[in-house]
Amino acid sequence: MPQTLTILGSTGSIGENTLDVVARHPDRFSVFALAGHTQVAKLAAQCRRFRPEYAVVADAEHAARLENLLREAGVGTQVLHGAQALTDIASADGVDGVMCAIVGAAGLPSALAAAQKGKTVYLANKETLVVSGALFMQTARAHGATVLPVDSEHNAVFQVLPRDYTGRLNEHGILSIILTASGGPFLDTDPAAFEHITPEQAIKHPNWRMGRKISVDSATMMNKGLELIEAHWLFDCPPEKLEVVIHPQSVVHSMVRYLDGSVLAQLGNPDMRTPIAYCLGLPQRIESGAAALDFAALSALTFRQPDFARFPCLKLAYEAMSAGGGAPCVLNAANEVAVAAFLEGRIRFTDIARTVAHCLDGGFSNDTGSLDSLLETDAQTRRRAQAFANGLNRRTVFSDGLLTGTEAV
Ligand code: NAD
Ligand code: MG
Repeated sequence: MPQTLTILGSTGSIGENTLDVVARHPDRFSVFALAGHTQVAKLAAQCRRFRPEYAVVADAEHAARLENLLREAGVGTQVLHGAQALTDIASADGVDGVMCAIVGAAGLPSALAAAQKGKTVYLANKETLVVSGALFMQTARAHGATVLPVDSEHNAVFQVLPRDYTGRLNEHGILSIILTASGGPFLDTDPAAFEHITPEQAIKHPNWRMGRKISVDSATMMNKGLELIEAHWLFDCPPEKLEVVIHPQSVVHSMVRYLDGSVLAQLGNPDMRTPIAYCLGLPQRIESGAAALDFAALSALTFRQPDFARFPCLKLAYEAMSAGGGAPCVLNAANEVAVAAFLEGRIRFTDIARTVAHCLDGGFSNDTGSLDSLLETDAQTRRRAQAFANGLNRRTVFSDGLLTGTEAV
């Protein structure tokens, strides 16, 4: 019997890569539902190709547009809309696996719903673990859900941990988990120039092609900070046993350091189809479409220490992880608001860290016990971050119709 899949965020970068892998193995997978928010044309094309039972979009207006496209194409997929529909297709009977590839905290309720129903959860949406790590992992354990890490670093760690890994590092002779980071496009840029970085420059990642939000997170290195918190929960690893090392080539995807001096690493080209195929194929290895790693073509693999002064977001994330409680939720919500404001040309690149620091300095609830309490902290932080960003009093500068930065009002 093929494995039945729901793909949340199917129109995004991870979603499209997932469907690329799925299409290579028509005997192994069948698509039950796709969710694409507002990208109606792309979602319609995916429905024509994969014939899911359900497709979910943001609201009634997008639903009407998708229904029209599907009717014209003679596709019988039923169209649903809204947040409840996302949790419905994530938890429906008959669904075996759920790819959680929505971006941001918007992906949290559906991922939690899949865990609650004991599904196999393919977790790309790292924000779920940052915001609700304790609750999500507890829920998965209580309901027998399998959580498989899609994020390339965590997938690499997962591949080189002992098969019977229990979360107790000492028992396995593990000294630390080492996450590699490309350092993003501004690894060697003069920090004095950081204020003038444009959204266009920030989303041009040197090695990976990804969605806009995670690309900006990579440029600030907040992405690595979120990934530290993700690793903390996924592998039950205390903050002091998590290391970050800069590795600009993105070939070593992460490593585990053992007591006897061994360091095990997973290598490959930077292609998200590899970790996706690893998760979807388990316990077998399946073809992903990723090109074989050509060692002769690799000039060098280099490593260096991260620079916290250059990347204050990474430092803020370390601090939020160590503080625990509501801090990671605040970190994430403030970052989402700040990144959106930066992409819209309302604040500078350097204002992202300022906004996050401002929210972490304010008071917030440390109640992380329920989805409702977390969503309340998330909403409060968004309001605070928005007010702070507005208070910076900057306006967008356009040149020849292109967004080129911001200036003081
Ligand atoms: P993306 O922006 O390319 O795609 C996001 C998807 O989510 C789209 O399908 C979009 O329609 C949908 N979406 C956006 N807002 C939504 C909302 N409010 N409600 C429902 N759906 C919504 O993002 P991406 O790069 O594919 O990243 C997805 C997730 O995977 C993120 O959490 C990211 O951190 C994580 N991730 C991505 C990569 C990568 O290589 N792209 C690698 C590791 C982890
Ligand atoms: Mg990653």
